[in-house]
Amino acid sequence: MSNPSEERWFYEVFPQAGTSFGLEVTSKLHSEKSSFQTIDIYQTTTFGKLMVLDGCIMVSERDHFIYHEMITHPGLFTHPNPRRVAIIGGGDCGTLKEVLKHDNVEAVTQIEIDERVTRMSEQYFPELCELNHDKRATFRFEDGIKWIKAQPAGTWDVIIIDSTDPVGPAKDLFSDQFLSACFKALGEHGILVQQSESPILHTHSIIRDLQRDLNSVGFNHVHTLPFPLPVYPSGWWSATMASKSVKPEHFRNQDAQNKSFDTHYYNHSIHQAALAQPEFMKLTLA
Ligand code: SAM
Repeated sequence: MSNPSEERWFYEVFPQAGTSFGLEVTSKLHSEKSSFQTIDIYQTTTFGKLMVLDGCIMVSERDHFIYHEMITHPGLFTHPNPRRVAIIGGGDCGTLKEVLKHDNVEAVTQIEIDERVTRMSEQYFPELCELNHDKRATFRFEDGIKWIKAQPAGTWDVIIIDSTDPVGPAKDLFSDQFLSACFKALGEHGILVQQSESPILHTHSIIRDLQRDLNSVGFNHVHTLPFPLPVYPSGWWSATMASKSVKPEHFRNQDAQNKSFDTHYYNHSIHQAALAQPEFMKLTLA
């Protein structure tokens, strides 16, 4: 018989870093094996509902806003006029909701390999899915790696890669072949934003390699924006933004200041601050 108190805790163990993160849970609301991964939904004591894929925390009700706002708004306020946006991954629909807040966006397509993630989010995280019926939104349930190859050159203004960690079906979303295909599918002022793991755990590995590959496939300006995220390994996460033409520091600051929608983490000052690089990142990424 396991210690009853152990059943009241969910732990994500992150062996690569020798860390784990735990949340007290009151119940397991759902569990299933989709064609791609195990999907578990918990009710936690202090972080609301929790979505876990193959044992890795994806979304908590309490802090998802930081991630969804920081993977979306810096890129969209850097592009001069983001009308056509693609989201690869993003099955919980939180990123889609943030993209749809931008009035200049005319069309957004979400390419999520696992439809069950979206169906589970609709059931357990309805607040993330509340804009899913927006007529500008299109859902495609297929592999983003195949989808991007079929995109005509210059089709998209912003591509957001809101994927799981670079393992399993998401592994090749970090490959230079995939990034090169994204570069071709983006227009002349195109912006790519990719979730890029933890600054303290991955600057010397995933982030450095991603920046190198983004530069090598042709992006002129590449920058990693750190932000806090309590439920992810190390509690510190990042999004790496790659721009064909606009320098990160030349983002539409006035538009960000005068934004017509609510956010709970992002604002123009946070955007500006996220362009500052901690010394260890500057040295490692130089
Ligand atoms: N915010 C989360 C994070 O940073 O870990 C990720 C959000 S979302 C749940 C990640 C999604 O990427 C998952 O639903 C997964 O099914 C999807 N995914 C993984 N590989 C994919 C691929 N090759 N094409 C499309 N979607 C993919």
